[in-house]
Amino acid sequence: MAGRKTGADSAKIEPLRPPRPCPICGKPSDRKAYPFCSARCADIDLNRWLKGSYAIPVVEEDGGTTPDDGID
Ligand SMILES: [Zn+2]
Repeated sequence: MAGRKTGADSAKIEPLRPPRPCPICGKPSDRKAYPFCSARCADIDLNRWLKGSYAIPVVEEDGGTTPDDGID
């Protein structure tokens, strides 16, 4: 009764997804607030986004220069 290799390698269990640290505080992320560790950090990130979006100047492109329609 020899030749069966069981148990030796079964201890190696790799997680499907490596836990991501929270981008705000670096703690392990939580499922509920993924990819953040908590709703609080998600809120902080959201506020950063909102502030950032306000800081970005809006550039509207009209699709190039359009010639006037014969205004004399
Ligand atoms: Zn966090």
